[in-house]
This record gives sequence, C-alpha cells and structure tokens, in this order.
Amino acid sequence: MDIKPNIKLFNTLSRETEKFAPIKDGKVGLYLCGPTVYDYATIGNYRTYIFGDLINRIFSYNGYKVKYVQNITDVGHLVSDEDTGEDKLEKGARREGKTAREVADYFTKLYWAESDKLNIKRPTISCRATDHIPEQIEMIKTLEEKGFTYKTSDGIYFDTSKQKDYGKLATLDIKGLKEGARVEANPEKKNITDFALWKFSPKNENRHMEWEPPWGIGFPGWHIECSAMSIKYLDEPFDMHAGAVDLIPVHHTNEIAQNEAIYGHKTVNYWLHGGFLMVDGKKMGKSLGNAYKISDITDKGFDPLVFRYLTFNTHYRQPMNFTWEAIESSKEALSKLYKTVAKMLPNEDDRPKLSTEWGDKFLEAINDDLNMPKALAVVWELVKNDSVDSSTKLATLYKFDEVLGLDIKKYATNLSELMTQDSKLPEIVDRIKLERDVARQKKDWQKSDKLRRNIEALGYRVEDIDGETKIYKI
Ligand code: AMP
Ligand code: ZN
Repeated sequence: MDIKPNIKLFNTLSRETEKFAPIKDGKVGLYLCGPTVYDYATIGNYRTYIFGDLINRIFSYNGYKVKYVQNITDVGHLVSDEDTGEDKLEKGARREGKTAREVADYFTKLYWAESDKLNIKRPTISCRATDHIPEQIEMIKTLEEKGFTYKTSDGIYFDTSKQKDYGKLATLDIKGLKEGARVEANPEKKNITDFALWKFSPKNENRHMEWEPPWGIGFPGWHIECSAMSIKYLDEPFDMHAGAVDLIPVHHTNEIAQNEAIYGHKTVNYWLHGGFLMVDGKKMGKSLGNAYKISDITDKGFDPLVFRYLTFNTHYRQPMNFTWEAIESSKEALSKLYKTVAKMLPNEDDRPKLSTEWGDKFLEAINDDLNMPKALAVVWELVKNDSVDSSTKLATLYKFDEVLGLDIKKYATNLSELMTQDSKLPEIVDRIKLERDVARQKKDWQKSDKLRRNIEALGYRVEDIDGETKIYKI
C-alpha cells in the first residue's frame, strides 16, 4: 500500500475536519490524558484509551513514526473541576487504608494489565505526575514571572483575564459563566474561570504527598502536569493532543492557557476528543451501579477484545451506548469473524498477497477521521466477497489487524486446530466440562459461567460453537 498519507481529522480547536499535516516529515507526536489512578478504570475510560490506541495504530499504519506519550495522574486531580474538594488520590488512600503511593501503584498496575488485555499498545513514554514535580514548579515560576498568577489563602492561581482568547477551545461563554452558570465556590478567585496551579496543603489534613516550592508546601494543580509532561517529551509545538469530551471546557482549556501564556503561541496543532460511553442510554455513575469495569465484562464471559470490537461500532466522536445486548451481538460478530478466518486457514498460501483494492478501501475508512464503523464494514465486505481468494483475504485481514488489534490470526489458528483435531484434555478439565454441559442443559447460566472460569483458570479456553462446547489450551 504505497499511498501518501492523507489523513483527515476533526480538530476541536477549529471545529473543522482538517487534512493532517505533520510538524516533522514522517513523524508524529501524540499526547493522551491518562488515568487518575485512585480507583478502577471504567469501561468509559477504556473507550477513551482504545481511541488513543487507534490514533497511535492508524498513524503507524500510515507509515508515521509515532511518539506516543501518556501520563499517569497520581497527584493533584481534585474531585471537583472547581479546584475545591479532595485530591482523588488522598481520598482513595483513605478508602483503602493505604498510602496514596500504594493506591497509585496498585491501580497503575491494574491499568496496564487491563490495557494489555484490550490490546492497547503501550505508549512510547508513560510518565507519572509525581516524577515531574520540578518541571511543574518551573512552569508555574515562569507563569509567575510573566504576571499570569496571583496568590490566595489556598494556592497559586492562573489569572484567566490576562489572556485575551481564554476559553477558545470550548468557545466558553465567559460572560455567561460570570452571570452564574458555574457556581463559584471560591470567593478569593478573581475570575470564575481562574484555576489552581499550586494548592497549599490544607492545615487540618495530613497529606501523603506534598512538596515545598518557594510559595508554600502543597501539591500541583491537575492541569499543569499535562502541560509540563507533554512539552517535556514532545517539545512544542507538537502534533496531537487527545482525551474525551469532558476535558474540553476545563482541563484542556487550561492546558492551552498555561502553554500559550508561557510560549506566546499555539503549542498543539490538533485537539481530538472522543465521545462519552453511556450505559443503557444513561450517564455512567458509581452511585447508579452502572460504572462497569473490565472485570464486570469478563465475569460475564466476554473476552476483553469483544469490548474492543464493540467500541469500533460507534464513531469515536459519537456517544456510545453500552448495553449487555450490544456486547452479546459483538461477541457473536467477533466469533463469526474468527470462525470464518479459521475455515480459510487450510487454504493459506506460503507467499500471501495483499489486496491493494481492499487495502485502499480500508485505508480510506480509517483515514476519514478514524472511521472505524466504516472500516468494519470493509472488513465484513471483504470476508463475504466470493471473488477474492482465501489466501489474499487472510493476508489482507492480518494487515488490517495492525489497526484492529483483534488478534485475528491467533484466535483463528486456535479455533482451526480445535476444529481439526480432537485433542485430549486433562482429566480435571474434562470433568469440569461435563459438569458445565449439565449446567448448560439445565440453563443454569450462572453455574456454567463459574465453571467456564474454572476451566480458564487452568489455562484453557472455552468456545461454544454451534451448540457444542470446544475447549483448547491457550
Ligand atoms: P480520569 O481517570 O477520570 O482522569 O479519566 C481518564 C480519561 O477517561 C479521560 O480522558 C476522561 O475524559 C475519560 N472518560 C471519563 N469518563 C468517560 C466516559 N464515560 N466515556 C468515555 N471517556 C471517559
Ligand atoms: Zn491531561
């Protein structure tokens, strides 16, 4: 596929779909706001991380060398966007009866384990906020020198009235906000949109994490970490900055404010924002009991890649509605894809050839503002097309899988082995299988799911194919 990259992206800053032009030929710099590691990441968060993964994979697929930076927020992200309330990490520490460091390390480890299961490629650089305190302090000092800051009793604030175009990313109606749209919780702030660069440690609280720069013991605000780390690793200006839509009005708006106050010009060319994930058409919320985790999905017997596949059915900028019916359909679709490929495997040629025609169609879809629903349609059209021989289909699908990340070859090969040979299972696996068959006959799905997990724990995979249960070693 020797095509000059022609990638179109919707840029939140211009509100237009633009043709992508890199700053440096053949290279791109990408920054994605990463997890605040105080609790489990939800499937909503993972929708956004899969979106980041797609940007990374699609640019690599187009031949770019991608430098992908993602932060780990392990300090300073307060429960409220208004610079009030507790630091999420300190809150997590209290909840768990551990130190903030222990909590951060635990959830960071979990984040990587779950990302790996979702085939999210690791970023080139993963950076923790707490490892970059001096860089953040330096930035705040520069802002201070340039006259953009003021001090209140609880911290150092950025004075947004000093910036003519503050709020341009979100086209914030500053006047409207002033008239009361956003409830002001801090009377010491000069402007409603001003935000904390540094917060002093509360007098009545023993914080786990704090530092002592010249203006007082405390911790950095959340926005400054992303400004400091993105520019440290990607330099400025850099190509792309991504996150979900909720970050537009405050977090990314404030990052832009800090950067442009320091550098005097635009520091990021393309701002990309993914839509939210909803559950049963409603906002996800811990109190609603619908803030599902990846483990909630796997507990119900879905492979994490089924969730990955499900996210591709909705364009990244649209809200995505998660339902158990939708993930069930995704499971069926993905299973059908693996099975169809498995059936083609015996016809695989030693020297596989890619189909340029289908390769171009796929490329056109993914380069059209990362249009994955369109890309999936190309995949299925190709799979169903009778005029393309199996060997070409396989080679072309494997190539597409560099973007899809669905491990098509691995799963199809496992299935194909399963379909062709009757491998002998260890006695214990056989016994659980029989017990599971009985549970399934009685439609006791809870028990059958539990037994499936027992089999999986022994290193075997369970597939219910055309009413029959097949088990094979992973
Ligand atoms: P947090 O851990 O809260 O800092 O969020 C990490 C990332 O997940 C951010 O980019 C958020 O914008 C994103 N995010 C949070 N909730 C959702 C959701 N329901 N759907 C999609 N993305 C989300
Ligand atoms: Zn960020």
